[in-house]
Amino acid sequence: MNFSELGLCDELSQAVADLGYTAPTPIQEKSIPYVLMGRDILGSAQTGTGKTASFTLPMIEILASGRAKARLPRSLILAPTRELAAQVADSFEKFSTYHKLSMALLIGGVSFADQNAALDKGVDVLIATPGRLLDHFERGKVLLTDVKILVIDEADRMLDMGFIPDVERIVGLLPPLRQTLFFSATLSDDIKKLSDKFVSNPKVIEVAPPASTADTVAQHLTWTSPKGKREALRSLLNSEDVKNAVIFCNRKRDISTLVTSLKRHNFSAVALHGDMTQSARLEALQKFKDGEVPLMIASDVAARGLDIAGLSRLAEAKDAPAKSKGKAAKAKADKSGVDGEKTTKAANSNEKKADGERGGRGRGRGRKAEAHPGELPPPPDCKGDTLHDTGHVPAFLLR
Ligand code: AMP
Repeated sequence: MNFSELGLCDELSQAVADLGYTAPTPIQEKSIPYVLMGRDILGSAQTGTGKTASFTLPMIEILASGRAKARLPRSLILAPTRELAAQVADSFEKFSTYHKLSMALLIGGVSFADQNAALDKGVDVLIATPGRLLDHFERGKVLLTDVKILVIDEADRMLDMGFIPDVERIVGLLPPLRQTLFFSATLSDDIKKLSDKFVSNPKVIEVAPPASTADTVAQHLTWTSPKGKREALRSLLNSEDVKNAVIFCNRKRDISTLVTSLKRHNFSAVALHGDMTQSARLEALQKFKDGEVPLMIASDVAARGLDIAGLSRLAEAKDAPAKSKGKAAKAKADKSGVDGEKTTKAANSNEKKADGERGGRGRGRGRKAEAHPGELPPPPDCKGDTLHDTGHVPAFLLR
């Protein structure tokens, strides 16, 4: 199967060939023909499956005929975070090399003036985060009555982040007669129920089983104590041949502590979290993507959907949820180091719930261990604060 067999024009086939794509991915193969037919889509696909091209390529094909009018975008792509929106815009630009389509990216942290100028010229594709789009709408800078195609990307993340009321408000501003492409990493019952509000008789496309981890990702867990986490992390970074890694922390202040600590130990690291200015966020992400800085210490701003070529490691500061949320436990909690693999759900629930600590309250310190629901039994060799102390060699270091 090649791209032109999916019904895409020669210019689009050429654009993807220029990018080195030789064949469509499963989500592209399954959705492109239906999008071209004008059907609504309810798609479940994880990041890395080629989901972005599965909606941008047929959109370009459809939008190629027709012209945009000032302040009346012809299509709208909603994404939950600025980085994801910027990434979709980047893909759109690459795919539309041979087309004369205009695009505007409306994300927070960037001046309104440039965005207004783009809207005034008229855009074929508007890519936006919900909050910034509503800001523009309230200032009378954009009208959504001419939107023919709506994409809701990463809908489950929108739900997690509390953006659904904004999305519903935006959808209420669109014409009811339109094509809607609704994508989510998983199609849980909640998401299916939610999608009913937006799509009509959709073609359901699932390319990955619900909540599965991509086959190419190996997951490992390392036990350590709260105080030992930073050293455990350094030990892993030194002993494994880590080309680059994203390290997630539960809280923003832990990110700066960890960045400072890593720099003190001669590691090169950048921070990425929601309290940074947009330009600082983009600069940090770019440095990381370009391989200039190998370690990115992030909050869950980066937890989903970022496309980073050749990422070798992903780690998460994950503490067991505390039974008691007393002040003493909070004061002692040290979440600055990390081990293990991340799922967004786990990260979100950590951010909201976890206040306690693992290991320091019980393991290897002569205090009674508390059992947490669903917690795995500790490995026998987990006394001490560092990998060196414990003598515990994680399985993946032995491979
Ligand atoms: P996405 O899931 O849309 O974030 O895409 C993940 C990565 O796959 C991006 O780097 C795309 O450039 C790449 N990609 C998308 N479609 C294809 C394809 N058909 N062949 C090769 N790479 C692709």
